[in-house]
Amino acid sequence: MNNADLVRRDLNAVWHPCTQMKDHETLPLIPFKRGKGVWLEDFENNQYIDAVSSWWVNLFGHANPRINAAIREQTETLEHAMLAGFTHEPVINLSERLIEVTPDGLNKCFYADNGSSAIEAALKMSYHYWKNHGKPGKKNFVNLGNSYHGETLGALALGDVGLYKATYQPLLMEVFTAPSPDAFNREEGESWEDYAIRQFEHMERILAEHHDEICAVVVEPLVQCAGNMRMHHAIFHTMLRKACDKYDVHLIADEIAVGFGRTGTLFACEQSGISPDFMCLSKGLTAGYLPLSIVMTTNDVYDAFYDDYETLKAFLHSHSYTGNPIGCAVALSTLDIFRDDNVIERNKALAQCMGDSVAHLADHPHVGDIRQHGMTLAIELVKDKATKTPFPFQERRGIRVYQHSITREALLRPLGNVIYFMPPYVITESQIQHLAQVATEGIDKATRD
Ligand SMILES: *Cc1c(COP(=O)(O)O)cnc(C)c1O
Repeated sequence: MNNADLVRRDLNAVWHPCTQMKDHETLPLIPFKRGKGVWLEDFENNQYIDAVSSWWVNLFGHANPRINAAIREQTETLEHAMLAGFTHEPVINLSERLIEVTPDGLNKCFYADNGSSAIEAALKMSYHYWKNHGKPGKKNFVNLGNSYHGETLGALALGDVGLYKATYQPLLMEVFTAPSPDAFNREEGESWEDYAIRQFEHMERILAEHHDEICAVVVEPLVQCAGNMRMHHAIFHTMLRKACDKYDVHLIADEIAVGFGRTGTLFACEQSGISPDFMCLSKGLTAGYLPLSIVMTTNDVYDAFYDDYETLKAFLHSHSYTGNPIGCAVALSTLDIFRDDNVIERNKALAQCMGDSVAHLADHPHVGDIRQHGMTLAIELVKDKATKTPFPFQERRGIRVYQHSITREALLRPLGNVIYFMPPYVITESQIQHLAQVATEGIDKATRD
C-alpha cells in the first residue's frame, strides 16, 4: 500500500467535505495510516503534527490509550440502545458530570449527534419554549456578524460566513445580525474591551426594538473559529446576559468549538461569569473520537415542556443515535482525563509557550495580527500591514503556508489567510517551537512575492 494508490482509489469514490475537488489535481491528498499522540502518519512513513486537532476535535492525542480502553469496555457491554423510553449508565453518568462542571443553572442534557444538530435542537427548543408560554410571536433569532454555527439549513441561517452561506441564502430563514465584537476591527489604540462595549450598542438596539419577536441570541463566546479565528473580549457576553434577561430573550452559547479548554477555561462562558439558557457542546466533548453533541439547558426551559401528553407541549425531536453509549463512555473518559491530569492548569504553560513562540512574527511585514485566547492562537496574513488590507482571496496565501508545512512534519491547515495553532493538549513545548519555526518559514515563503 502506498500513498499514490490510495489517492487514486479515493478520488474515484470519495467526495470530500468543504473541498473544491479539482484542487486535488495540484494539492496532494494525504492518506493516513495511523495516528499516535500529536502525530498523524501516512503510508510512506511521513509524520505530521496535527496542529489543528483534526478540525478542532482532538484533545488528548490520537489513539489515546485511556480512551481506547473506555471504548473497548463499552462495546463489550452495550453498544447502543434507543434513548426514548430507555436509558443506560453512560448517558446518566455523563449528564450528571456535565451538570457539575458547566456553569450553574444548566441542569438538563438533551442529546444529538453532531454540532449542527445541537444548534437545530436549541433553536427549536427556544422557539417552542416561548410558544408554550403563550408567545408564538417570538420566532426570530439574532446572530453576530462573522458567526458560524454549522451547515444544516437552520444552523447555516444562523451563521454569517458568506463563503458557506451566500449560495444557499434563498433557502434560509432570515435573522437579525448584530455586528461582531471582533477585536481585529477595533480602532488604533482602542482596547479589546472598549471595542466590545462599543459594539454591544448595536446588539442592545436590536433587542430593544425587536424583543417581542425574538426567541434567542446565538453566540460563539470569545472565538469565532470558522470565522477566521477572530476573537473578542469576554465583557460582550456579560453585557449580553444582562440584556437577554432584561428583554426576555434566551441566550444560546455555541461552545461546540471553544468548549473543553480551547480558550483556557473549561468553558468559554466562565470568562464572562455567565450562564446561558442553552449551551451547545460537541467536538471536544468526545476528544476527537466519535460524533456526539449535547444541548444543555435550564430547569426553567425543561419545565415549559413538562405537562400532560395531550397538551402536546413535549419536545418531539430525536436522532437515531441519540445518546449513543459508546460516545457517552468516551465523553466520560474525556472528563476523567481533564480531572485526573489537571489539564486546564497544565495548559497554562503550553498557552504561554504558544504565545512566546510566535511573538517575533509581530514585526513581520505581512502579519497583520497575532491573537490568542488560551490554547487557540491565530496569525493573520495581510497584504498591507498599516491598513490591514487583506491579500485577495484568489491568491490563496494560507494554502501556500500549508504546502510548506507538510514538507516539515506539520499540518498547518489555514482558514483563508489565517494560520492557527489549536493543538491537542498532549503537545510538548519543543513541538510547539517546531510549529512556530515551520509557520515562520511558511509565512516568509507565502508572502514573498
Ligand atoms: C463545528 C461547529 C459547528 C457545527 O458542528 P458539526 O459537528 O460540524 O455539525 C457549530 N458551531 C461551531 C462554533 C462549530 O465550530
